[in-house]
Amino acid sequence: MRAIAVNPERRSIDLVEHDEPELAEATDVRLRMLEVGVCGTDREIAAFEYGDPPPGSDHLVIGHESLAEVLEVGSRVTSLQPGNLVVPMVRRPCPHDFCRPCRSGRQDFCSTGDFRERGIKHQHGYMAELVVDDQDYMNLVPEVLRNVAVLVEPLTIAEKALEQVEHIQRRLPWGTENHRAVVLGAGPVGLLGAMALIVAGFDTWVYSRSPAPNDKADLAEAVGARYISSETHSADELREEVGNIDLVYEAVGASEVGFDVLSVLGTNGVFVFTGVPGRKAPFEAAIRHLTEHNRRWPDVLGSLVTHYPMEAYEELLTGRAGGIKQVIDIAAPAS
Ligand SMILES: [Zn+2]
Ligand SMILES: [Zn+2]
Repeated sequence: MRAIAVNPERRSIDLVEHDEPELAEATDVRLRMLEVGVCGTDREIAAFEYGDPPPGSDHLVIGHESLAEVLEVGSRVTSLQPGNLVVPMVRRPCPHDFCRPCRSGRQDFCSTGDFRERGIKHQHGYMAELVVDDQDYMNLVPEVLRNVAVLVEPLTIAEKALEQVEHIQRRLPWGTENHRAVVLGAGPVGLLGAMALIVAGFDTWVYSRSPAPNDKADLAEAVGARYISSETHSADELREEVGNIDLVYEAVGASEVGFDVLSVLGTNGVFVFTGVPGRKAPFEAAIRHLTEHNRRWPDVLGSLVTHYPMEAYEELLTGRAGGIKQVIDIAAPAS
């Protein structure tokens, strides 16, 4: 089968021929990969900043944001059947008995750092025609989300943040009505975050570099956010426009603008840095909310995604490809 792999030793990225994975356990599921998203993490791996092949392998098949179709299930698989659409999770628990997060099934909080991540750390990823994994790591996706479900994994970033924000804001006994949120950045993580915040009831602003009008500003406004450019408004001027900034959702990576806006965070506010990775986030909430986003803004979700064939891997991984969220089409679903 074909797969896109990096070889960190040789510093190469190639479309390679790879052995097909087979069912090994009775709870294994065999997947035909349909779409795989490309994100900043993939580009950093392709620049050899990190990314670790599985032990004994000289290369790592990359890709962690995906949508797949179930092809075959082991004899003890109860939750899935061939034809189902799934989004597989990324992080796998560490082996240590003393790691309470991993032993509680919350490897996103792993305290040892010895977790594995498919397509990133010590396990092959999803930019391959076929993948085998345990049913426990699959999230069933309704058929209506076929065209946008590749956005589930990046949306889990916002879902996990919102879950934590909700815990923290419960300390305010008078509630959080009319709270105002500022999203930093208008890339896919930022725009998906803005949608999640609007659905959660926040008045939402998107603060990003390019002055409007531009595509990203149009999409932000189409979902009901207000767009402000950091080239025309300083952090202080942003605060004047917004008022008390109750929540900042940073989606630009560690950057100066993050620290500028931190200085104008409102009283009792919360600042979320998404740059710190937490990959096995609440998928169920992401799938539920994607259904809601798709109902409210079907055109916006669709226009976030630009499709490419596997052969375009070089331009995609060096960041030269156009579009907001680039997705590699691996296969069309069997019908
Ligand atoms: Zn990613
Ligand atoms: Zn752990």
